[in-house]
Amino acid sequence: MASSLPPRGPYVKKENLGTPRRGMGFKVASPRNVLSAINNGAANGGAPSAQADGGGSGAEAAPVVEFSGREDAERLLAEKMKGKSKNDFKGRVDQMSEYIKKLRACVRWYMELEDGYLAEQEKLRGAMDAENTRHTELEAKLSNAIEELKAANLDLTRRCDSLEESFNKEMSEKTIAVEYYEKEKKERESAETSRELLTVDLERVTHDAMRFSEQLKMVQDTNKRLQEYNASLQQYNSNLQADASKSGEAISKLQKEKSAMMETMAVLRECNSSMNNQLESSRVSQQDAIRVKEELRKEVECLRAELNQVRDDRDHSVVQLNNLNIELANYKERYGKSSMACESMSVKVSALEETCNTQQEQIQNFQKQLAVATEKLKLADVTAIEAMTGYEEQKEKIKYLEDRLAHAESQIIEGDKLRKKLHNTILELKGNIRVFCRVRPLLFDGNSNGSEEAFISYPTSVESAGRGIDLINQGQQLSFSYDKVFDHDASQEDVFVEISQLVQSALDGYRVCIFAYGQTGSGKTYTMMGKPGVDKKGIIPRSLEQIFKTSRSLESQGWKYSMQASMLEIYNETIRDLLAPDRSNSFEMTTSKQYSIKHDPHGNTTVSDLTVIDVFDIADVTSLLEKASKSRSVGRTQMNEQSSRSHFVFTLKISGSNENTCQQVQGVLNLIDLAGSERLAKSGSTGDRLKETQAINKSLSALSDVIFAIAKGDDHVPFRNSKLTYLLQPCLGGDSKTLMFVNISPEGSSVGETICSLRFASRVNACEIGIPRRHTQSRPLDSRLSYG
Ligand code: ADP
Ligand code: MG
Repeated sequence: MASSLPPRGPYVKKENLGTPRRGMGFKVASPRNVLSAINNGAANGGAPSAQADGGGSGAEAAPVVEFSGREDAERLLAEKMKGKSKNDFKGRVDQMSEYIKKLRACVRWYMELEDGYLAEQEKLRGAMDAENTRHTELEAKLSNAIEELKAANLDLTRRCDSLEESFNKEMSEKTIAVEYYEKEKKERESAETSRELLTVDLERVTHDAMRFSEQLKMVQDTNKRLQEYNASLQQYNSNLQADASKSGEAISKLQKEKSAMMETMAVLRECNSSMNNQLESSRVSQQDAIRVKEELRKEVECLRAELNQVRDDRDHSVVQLNNLNIELANYKERYGKSSMACESMSVKVSALEETCNTQQEQIQNFQKQLAVATEKLKLADVTAIEAMTGYEEQKEKIKYLEDRLAHAESQIIEGDKLRKKLHNTILELKGNIRVFCRVRPLLFDGNSNGSEEAFISYPTSVESAGRGIDLINQGQQLSFSYDKVFDHDASQEDVFVEISQLVQSALDGYRVCIFAYGQTGSGKTYTMMGKPGVDKKGIIPRSLEQIFKTSRSLESQGWKYSMQASMLEIYNETIRDLLAPDRSNSFEMTTSKQYSIKHDPHGNTTVSDLTVIDVFDIADVTSLLEKASKSRSVGRTQMNEQSSRSHFVFTLKISGSNENTCQQVQGVLNLIDLAGSERLAKSGSTGDRLKETQAINKSLSALSDVIFAIAKGDDHVPFRNSKLTYLLQPCLGGDSKTLMFVNISPEGSSVGETICSLRFASRVNACEIGIPRRHTQSRPLDSRLSYG
């Protein structure tokens, strides 16, 4: 009976149970069957119907009365006595008995039918009871199911509501985003055009700057030459002046000599005149003597006359004469003497005259020489004046050139300022937080079995080429897009080209953070540090090379830069100094140092006890990097693969000043190799491993919380939730630049972690920090809708 129940189903209609129907499964004897049973019973003689029949005349073969149903019975009831005459009682009795028989048969049929029905009813009741119990069970089950369904339904309605709500929200967001996108698109186009214009400007300016620097160089050359020429002129001038002063000296000497000669001449003239005077006086005395002689002669004659007259007085007169003769002799002597003196005087005079003549000749010679010297002096003066005028001209020229130089320099400075502004505008247009994805090539190291399927592909459509990445997981395609996607073929150089502008920003005085995120083995360290060899150098050495090169080339514009490097590791929320001079291999020995992080109001960060080293060229930094990576690897063997369980932070502080323009810049470049992002099963880890895992999970989610809080513009940004975010606080948000590298492994076995990394990156990529500028593409929006 149970096996022939109606097909399973929660709802069984009760009315079906009552009415026997074909196909319902209940075996109820049909009236025809009953009748045939009666008939057969009659035939076999053993059936109860025969007994019933027995009430009648058993001799008479009972006419076969067949009831095929209610209609037959009704027909029987409606039967009329056939045309027997009223008096034909026998006929009527027969007819009546016939009819009665039929009626009996009918009644029996009905009774049978009733019995059948009763039995059937009994059976059905049993079945119904069974059904009822089953039904109650089913009902209980059903009510349970209904409860469950109701709960599920409620849940579903709630989810449906929330989904609807979120759908509506998303739709509104989408419309807003689409509008925004349209607006952005327009803006972007305008920005593109302005950018192009700006690029053209920039090119022009760079060109100008180059031209100016060439001009400057030329001007400097000319200036140098002019200075040389000027120096030679000055030399010549000083030579001339020396000559002039020499000639002046000679002249003054000559004049002195001349005056000395004049003096001697005057003395000589005086001498001469005194001689002449003496001569005159001697002449006068000679004339006196001559006059006296004349007078004496006259006296002699008078005396002779007197002799004649006074012969008497002859003796006396002779005596007198003798006396007079003596006197005469004396006079004669005196006269001879004076004439001798006169002669010697005239000899002297003639000698003096001779010297005077020779001296006059000499004076004339000297005067001639003087005239020549004066002539020369005049000439020298003229050339000196000429030289002076030339010098003045040159000075003017130099001044003019210097002016032009200053103008060119100021133009160069202006150009540089413009370049910085444009550079920053370009970076702002690209976004202050950017996400790059890098796929590591498959490694053939013996571990890979080659059965890994290629589940990563790159869309080639125009808008997502180089920006999109598709992933096939369990036959489902997931699409993501970022600011840039580097496939497994991308070289370190290709990657750095995209980074170099950020590095330039650090030199221009911005704070820059570059993170490498991803599971262990996905290529974070390869991207950041790289490997030895020119082609394989990572971002850190390449950035430093660029910084030193650029800072050197800016020296010509008056920029002076100084740089300080530090390297640390954050393991289990503890800072380790990778450059500590007394570095010990274990953690415990360094814990005496505090390494507490402090920020001053200007956004400068200091870590107490941390080694900070001044670096001057790339060689300094290379040796520091080697030292740090050695410290890290020493730790690794002891600290349980610590390098993948700790964050590595390289910080370069750049301060630049320009004396020409009195400008000062302070930039910071942070390059961070994050700990592996793989989520370890917490249940399986215990002790140190558990602590480690919790520390990594906490700090990575703190990092994303900080990024999202900044992107949302929250008042409170939870910087203090981890050492890493607290350390980088001034370098996240504001006008600082952040770049996140998401490294992924291509192996099929990593697909779970890869999806986690890509989703994380998508969420970060949807963030905007600082000035709104991003042109949200439809792809990230879609991906946000489906995964966010
Ligand atoms: P992580 O630091 O994320 O744990 P690694 O940088 O140590 O990963 O990379 C794991 C391995 O993969 C290293 O042997 C590395 O040399 C190699 N590798 C990673 N990225 C690349 C790449 N782009 N090209 C070639 N080899 C790579
Ligand atoms: Mg690593």
